[in-house]
Amino acid sequence: MQKIIVHSSGCSAVESTSTLNVFVKDIEELVEEVYGLMKQYSIPFYRVEPHNASCPGPGYPWEDLEYQLFVLTH
Ligand SMILES: [Zn+2]
Repeated sequence: MQKIIVHSSGCSAVESTSTLNVFVKDIEELVEEVYGLMKQYSIPFYRVEPHNASCPGPGYPWEDLEYQLFVLTH
């Protein structure tokens, strides 16, 4: 099953084409983009993952994003 990987806006280490890559932006826009991909590719919210420990980084409000996706999908 595919994953959606979330990157910081300046990340240049975007991986292969086997994952779907999105870049952080305004939270509402990001939620819309990720949710659109989830629907398009039938990806559950728990397959949406941060790239790594420093991308998008410890300062990113990951819980907010997860919560909004969770609410949209339930
Ligand atoms: Zn990254």
